[in-house]
Amino acid sequence: DYMDEFEWGQELLHRARKVFGIKDFRFCQKGVCNANMDGRDIVCVMPTGGGKSLTYQLPALLTPGTTVVISPLVSLIADQIMHLREAGVEAVMLTGATSKEESRDIFTRLGQKKQTKGRGAVRAVDDGNSEQEEIKLCYVTPERIAKSKTFMSLMEKMALDGRLARIVIDEAHCVSSLGHDFRPDYKKLSILRQLFPTVPILALSATCPPSVLKDLLKILKMRPVVDGNAATIDGTVYFSSPLYRANLHYSVLPKPSSQAAAIQAMADYILAHHARDSGIVYCLSKKDTQTVADGIREASGGKIKTGVYHADVEDEVKEGIHRKWRNGQVQVVCATIAFGLGIDKGDVRFVLHHSMSKSIDGFYQESGRAGRDGKDADCVLYYRGQDATRLSSLICGEIEGQEKLHEMLRFAQNLTDCRKLLFARYFSSSSDLSTAAWEDPSAGPGTSLAKCGHCDNCTRSPSTIERRDVSVQSWQLLRIVEAVCREGGRVTVGILSDLARGLAGGAFNVSSGGKKRKRTEKAELDLEDVAGGKVGLSKDDVETLTIQLILDHYLKEDFHQTAYAINVYLSPGSQAPRL
Ligand code: ADP
Repeated sequence: DYMDEFEWGQELLHRARKVFGIKDFRFCQKGVCNANMDGRDIVCVMPTGGGKSLTYQLPALLTPGTTVVISPLVSLIADQIMHLREAGVEAVMLTGATSKEESRDIFTRLGQKKQTKGRGAVRAVDDGNSEQEEIKLCYVTPERIAKSKTFMSLMEKMALDGRLARIVIDEAHCVSSLGHDFRPDYKKLSILRQLFPTVPILALSATCPPSVLKDLLKILKMRPVVDGNAATIDGTVYFSSPLYRANLHYSVLPKPSSQAAAIQAMADYILAHHARDSGIVYCLSKKDTQTVADGIREASGGKIKTGVYHADVEDEVKEGIHRKWRNGQVQVVCATIAFGLGIDKGDVRFVLHHSMSKSIDGFYQESGRAGRDGKDADCVLYYRGQDATRLSSLICGEIEGQEKLHEMLRFAQNLTDCRKLLFARYFSSSSDLSTAAWEDPSAGPGTSLAKCGHCDNCTRSPSTIERRDVSVQSWQLLRIVEAVCREGGRVTVGILSDLARGLAGGAFNVSSGGKKRKRTEKAELDLEDVAGGKVGLSKDDVETLTIQLILDHYLKEDFHQTAYAINVYLSPGSQAPRL
């Protein structure tokens, strides 16, 4: 799966930060870069402003040779070149506006066998000696490619010398006469694959309806992948940024606190709604996949055939599971996110999450493996606040990770807003993208983003939501945490829940003696005095409320603690008011 880590991962991110000044990758940028570095043919569909340029500019810097970018708009090309040069990247363009001398110079440089005097291509960014630098990116217009034999022969020479790193086709949907933007010059690009059978092609587009996409794959003769776990369309590596998919029905269900009950609930769900359908259950850990797979099989009386898939499963076994799943011998694969293969199986009718993902990005990607055939599919998250504490140990200390987890928690705890709108808001706020990608294409342009009408929150009858005022309980929890902190003590979400409900004899841990001679002592809390008595809620409800207090910034968690425990503190400036 190209969203995983690769050997060049560190270098990619390092250069992305250093050269392009970005903090982190968006959506599928990392995946496209990885597949590029791996020499694949790729189709990438991302809305305008989504960040398509980075997906080839960054790999261009790390690959020897020149990347040829075919792009139709001279003004946009000029803009790109300016930015690239400012960033110290050697980029040139050949358009109708390029002067004869300039063209000649570029041709000479591209024609030379050793533009870099034999030094590494990566050097290009590192020093300012532009005379000798290898051209990393050469932008040309489709007209130039279609009409100029000389450029084509230059590309052939470069390819022969192994210096044609890859070919990027911007606005690639223009090759298809089925779309609105067909351009005859683009049609001629079909010759590229013939002339350069081994040079990877990256096709980029902002709008590509399925029929155009299929036509494009055929015309450009995109090479299918024959191995690996890449997300594919008709065999070609395919990426698309999050778009609204009307056939996916999202819901969040409360996850029973006992493992057995949670598994039983999933087995019952599958039998009731998808007795004969293929599906995936995503689990947090490798161990969970086995427990859940065994559990679902047993809980269904053997009716549901399950398989297990995670990073440590032997390759042959993985292949076996895959095959059996595809031909129906295995109905449900219980997997970690290692089961990533954008999955060459269109008829996945349901994706269940036994534990929530670390981020909405991950959740959307994983659940999005359902319904690739366009038919209805269900995406169900089984949520329990306590699961957050398991996840928090995985993202220990990373601020961005914490924020992403918080967003995931907000999504899960939200019982009123349309899931589609929540996704749209999330994905458009993590970039400067408009929410246009989330509009239903059939609704027509200009219509404001409408509710999906078919997620749990849209279909839930308001009368089924029990509303309770929990101000007093919140106040009690804040008072308890405050009292614990005053004593220098520590509590986790789970312990706080016990403490608040009058269990554990009011005891909590206090560390003393500094770093070296650390001792843990017990202290005790007088619940009556601190909080006016026990918090009258179930364990699950106290945990959910605690998570909500964290999300609303009344409490703050300390991620530096050991696995499976978030310690909670009162946020700076936050105080439990005295009644
Ligand atoms: P597209 O070609 O898809 O329309 P661009 O590649 O021009 O989009 O990128 C749009 C804007 O987003 C640019 O200003 C670019 O610098 C910015 N951008 C791209 N990727 C990132 C990122 N990962 N983080 C922050 N900004 C980004």
